[in-house]
Amino acid sequence: MKLRRRQFLHLAAGTAALPAVSRIAWAQTYPSRPVRIIVGFTAGGPGDILARLIGQWLSERLGKPLFIENRPGAASNIGTEVVVRSPPDGHTLLLISSANFINATLYEKLNFNFIRDIAPVASIIHLPNVMEVNPSVPAKTVPEFIAYARTKPGKISMASGGNGAASHVSGELFKMMTGINMVHVPYRGTAPALTDLLGGQVEIIFDQIISSIEYIRSEKVRALAVTTATRSQALPDIPTVGDFVPGYEASTWFGVGVPRNTPAEIIDRLNKEINAGLVDPNMKARLANMGGVVLAGSAADFGDLIVDETEKWGKVVKFAGLKPE
Ligand code: ASP
Repeated sequence: MKLRRRQFLHLAAGTAALPAVSRIAWAQTYPSRPVRIIVGFTAGGPGDILARLIGQWLSERLGKPLFIENRPGAASNIGTEVVVRSPPDGHTLLLISSANFINATLYEKLNFNFIRDIAPVASIIHLPNVMEVNPSVPAKTVPEFIAYARTKPGKISMASGGNGAASHVSGELFKMMTGINMVHVPYRGTAPALTDLLGGQVEIIFDQIISSIEYIRSEKVRALAVTTATRSQALPDIPTVGDFVPGYEASTWFGVGVPRNTPAEIIDRLNKEINAGLVDPNMKARLANMGGVVLAGSAADFGDLIVDETEKWGKVVKFAGLKPE
């Protein structure tokens, strides 16, 4: 059946005005079909690995298939826009990452307003990025790396998951606070960036720990420091950047969001199921092994975190004078 636009708008308005009882009934039949999680970065990166773990858990809890759709580009802005434009019915979820908080300030023109257009569902994990180098780099510590970089101004390539990715801005903060000059090489996620780090085409990355930890454990890359204020339990021997660069700190987060106007009952259901995963011993162990700290809470708690982090990164972006390039 083909609906004329006016008819369609009328119907759409009618759905929004459904009485609470039928909205609850609708939420009770949720999900009525497969659910997708949009990841704004390439497969095999930190966001993707985490989304697959949470997706598998959610699929079991919701009793419907759940698939991951990678929509890389512009440090997750492309994928975020896909979710903003999707029907607010809980069948399209966004894997929210710190890039969303950074890009709110970094990009002057986005086709959406992240805080206004994406409703928070649940936070998942807090994690460090790891400052890590190809083993051919002749630096075993942060001070040695700074000294080495000073001898090669503008010659060292620093890879990242994109302009405005957490890996990018953590590295820019390091450049700014140490005064060293490295060339930024953005990728569409840190998976291809890591491939080039392993191959020696680039020398350094500040990768979110999830996708790097196995390479660090098998010594395919050399971790120099973690970006958080305290060490990671998963890498207890690795110091923090702040141990050598006082005041340096960069924490990153992942969580889940949905298009605004998604019924509260659906958000509550998703929040409940995600939080159940965060206390499940098996899931908890897998997340801890990836190097992160689980962060459970309500949708409103995650909303507060998003506002705080957007403000914090906004200051870094302005202070460092970053532009999307
Ligand atoms: N989220 C990552 C970053 O901020 C990129 C990725 O997931 O591939 O660098």
